Amino acid sequence: MRMYPIGDWTYLLVIIGLGIGMAAQYGVKRAYREFSQVATQQGMPASAVVMDLLRQNGNSSVSLARIGGELTDNYNPQNNTLSLSDAVFHSNSVAALAIAAHEAGHAMQHMEGYVPLQVRSFSVPAVQIGSQAAIPIFIAGLIFSFRPLVFVGIGLFALSVFFALITLPVEFDASRRGLRMLSDGGCLSESELSGAKKVLRSAALTYVASALASLLNLVRLILIAQGGSRRRRR
Ligand SMILES: [Zn+2]
Repeated sequence: MRMYPIGDWTYLLVIIGLGIGMAAQYGVKRAYREFSQVATQQGMPASAVVMDLLRQNGNSSVSLARIGGELTDNYNPQNNTLSLSDAVFHSNSVAALAIAAHEAGHAMQHMEGYVPLQVRSFSVPAVQIGSQAAIPIFIAGLIFSFRPLVFVGIGLFALSVFFALITLPVEFDASRRGLRMLSDGGCLSESELSGAKKVLRSAALTYVASALASLLNLVRLILIAQGGSRRRRR
């Protein structure tokens, strides 16, 4: 009996991707827990610090909001709103300030028209549609042995890989800006600043991990497509 091509050894690539992602998530949670126990000497809560940092850097148009959940902090360029999670909002910990400053970094990117952020925002709708349609189209192509559909599926999936890759410079740059603002603003001591770096570095690794995982998934689809054509030629 010939096996259906999905479910063969290439599934290992998905598992490797999942493993890397889980390790990165574990890393960021551990760094977050460690440095959310370390209060800064200066003592101001992240919500106040982040607005100060933005003002100092000539950006006073950002709205501040609170959001539920853990590590859900984000900046939305559409409505120029910086949302801090409940645990970060009132906290004066090194981790909270690092996360808030990172989001302020995104707000600065938006204000200055940082190109990778614009490309990323611009590609969101296409990526959302593409990533949902990719696998069903790919599988339909395999079932009906219709190569063009297989390629369309791979092409659509490649959009989400592109998105994961363009996210990397956006995230790295936001952390760089955030740390620079914290350091220039004199909010943190040397040792506090190195703690903040650790938190943001481990957060950046989660984006590297998801880019890697989506790249591995793309490789898998290509391998399956090649396997399908080899089987047919035999
Ligand atoms: Zn970010």
